[in-house]
Amino acid sequence: MNIKSFRSLLTLAIVVMAGSVCATDVLIHDPEQKEFKEVMSNAKRIHTSDGWFEVIKMPNNIYAFWEPGHVELVNSFLILGESFDLLYDTGMGIASIKNAIAEVRKIEGLPERKIVVVNSHAHLDHIGDNHEFDELYGFNSEWRIRKITEGIPAGNKKWIDYYASLNETPKPPENYSPSTMSVPPVRKDKIKFINDRDIIDLGNRKFTAILSKSHTEDSVVLYDADNKLLFTGDVFSPAILGFIENNGDDLYKDLVLLDSLDVAYHYNTHGAYQLSDLNARSKALKAFEKVRKNEVKPYEVEFFVGEPNLVYEVDGIQFWHWPYQSHY
Ligand SMILES: [Zn+2]
Repeated sequence: MNIKSFRSLLTLAIVVMAGSVCATDVLIHDPEQKEFKEVMSNAKRIHTSDGWFEVIKMPNNIYAFWEPGHVELVNSFLILGESFDLLYDTGMGIASIKNAIAEVRKIEGLPERKIVVVNSHAHLDHIGDNHEFDELYGFNSEWRIRKITEGIPAGNKKWIDYYASLNETPKPPENYSPSTMSVPPVRKDKIKFINDRDIIDLGNRKFTAILSKSHTEDSVVLYDADNKLLFTGDVFSPAILGFIENNGDDLYKDLVLLDSLDVAYHYNTHGAYQLSDLNARSKALKAFEKVRKNEVKPYEVEFFVGEPNLVYEVDGIQFWHWPYQSHY
């Protein structure tokens, strides 16, 4: 495995390890499905005035707020509703996603609506601009509450390196500096709790919030059964999946569930392609079944928190066992 394949994201740690190597092979992930390639190449793209976000108009009245300037290549999604708009993640926090949304609404002639944030999980690449919003929905997890209410202060060496892991273009806003970058803490009373399988009703469409515990203990998978839309956060990515528990039972359970869903559009939270192939879930499930049967010999990878991690690579998919990732 070369250093470039470390560029998995799904966790911040790996990026730190990879230092300043650029390129993001694992995340480019060109979909094989012809119709998705066409959707992506014909999609309207809006470059916001901060110079940072590339906003992509996706099928089903959904806008992806992509951050191609940082190696995480993270995507947050604005899902237009009638009663309110749902924002699935708030991104890195390198530029204001709230301002970017306001700009896009203006350009696109979209109505002003309340924004309800649902964080896919509480890793830093998805909660960076939480402080800009008043309602943050998620499962009741101590880890989640701690991450969101503590944020991270500026000036910590490991996070400076992380926030300095930029791609050549686009450049971050002028006032951005990795050494002063922080994730501001959010007051606890802004966090609203949901339960597993609760329905989030946007007026014109409904999402079921599914609790997943494989990537983190708090992950929110969103599924709209009527329109067959699926958002899996970092629980699923076509080429790399990370799991925290020792036996892989939770990831297996998640993969079985995801594979059982009837899906027309599966949106990616990381990478240059915002849509996953529809067979990616069954491919990953089959690959992980080989891991479960001990047919795959893992290799060790040093993790920046100091503990070795095991990577199982099978059929072009990497499964990372990273039990310590929720410690930060
Ligand atoms: Zn992530």
